[in-house]
Amino acid sequence: MPKILDGVAIAAEIKKEVAEEVKQLAAQGIRPGLAAVLVGSVAASEIYVRSKVQTCADLGIFSDLITPPQSVTTAEMLDLLASLNARDEIDGILIQLPLPAHVDTKALLDAVTPAKDVDGFNPVNAGRLQAGRPSLAPCTPAGIIEVLKRSGIPISGRHAVVVGRSDIVGKPVSMLLLHQNATVTICHSKTQNLAEITRQADILVAAIGRPGFITPEMVKPGATIIDVGINRLTTREDLNRYFAGNASREAAFAKRGSTIVGDVHPKAFELSSAYTPVPGGVGPLTIAMLMSNTVRAAKMRRGI
Ligand code: NAP
Repeated sequence: MPKILDGVAIAAEIKKEVAEEVKQLAAQGIRPGLAAVLVGSVAASEIYVRSKVQTCADLGIFSDLITPPQSVTTAEMLDLLASLNARDEIDGILIQLPLPAHVDTKALLDAVTPAKDVDGFNPVNAGRLQAGRPSLAPCTPAGIIEVLKRSGIPISGRHAVVVGRSDIVGKPVSMLLLHQNATVTICHSKTQNLAEITRQADILVAAIGRPGFITPEMVKPGATIIDVGINRLTTREDLNRYFAGNASREAAFAKRGSTIVGDVHPKAFELSSAYTPVPGGVGPLTIAMLMSNTVRAAKMRRGI
């Protein structure tokens, strides 16, 4: 039976450690602070941001939720970021993505000062990460490394295959795995003979954004599978495609009218030695690592 890597429990462990660090900083008169910028009213983004703000409150981190309207311009956002970059009580700046199409997302990510870039999306931090210098690493990739390490899964010397090369997940997690001495192969939509490559993976990371894309014939028996994908299934046909006969999924679907599946087909997990489930695997780590990065940024900015 494969081991289920419980992201909820690991995230709770990390948050407990962060709360302890916050307490220690408070004794020195320091309170880490996060500014969360939420543009417009995208329902999913609102849920994510509110949960981040709530977690700040739970851990004793100061937070400031800023909600520019959907019509905000790039110039107005740049002014806002300049003021957040300058505010001393703010250690981390989070811009919830996606932004409206008329806003220049790249220009805004570049405008977050690297010292407060707790999402790790500024090219300066991406470069530092690649060069192996101290940096703020993107939260989901950093969370994946925490899951592997805290679950006692060896990384050094093993072949990690990452499917996906986004700046948010695929590239940074590949870099972090490389720094942990894995032999890393990065695959993408133009990769040929993909299954041949994924079948060589001791650690297979799926960050594609396509439901159940990784099928059993793409997995080496005994591999560790990290499923980053979050895909919502809204039709009964899709539910049956991935979860036929799964009573708890059926019940969840009947209640909510949808359920979530990762980028890995549930049947593929059965071949693994360990895997992160969806939901409850990588997802919870993202907020935990955001909190961890905020405290880290607060310390780095003060030379602690
Ligand atoms: P993305 O920017 O859309 O990147 C997807 C990657 O998958 C691209 O590199 C793409 O290749 C590759 N790809 C697409 N089709 C492929 C195919 N047929 N074969 C091989 N590779 C293929 O997505 P992302 O932002 O990295 O996110 C990936 C998934 O993770 C999504 O489901 C997202 O919701 C989820 N996610 C979860 C968390 C979390 O748990 N907290 C955080 C972030 C993202 P090309 O580069 O060639 O196009």
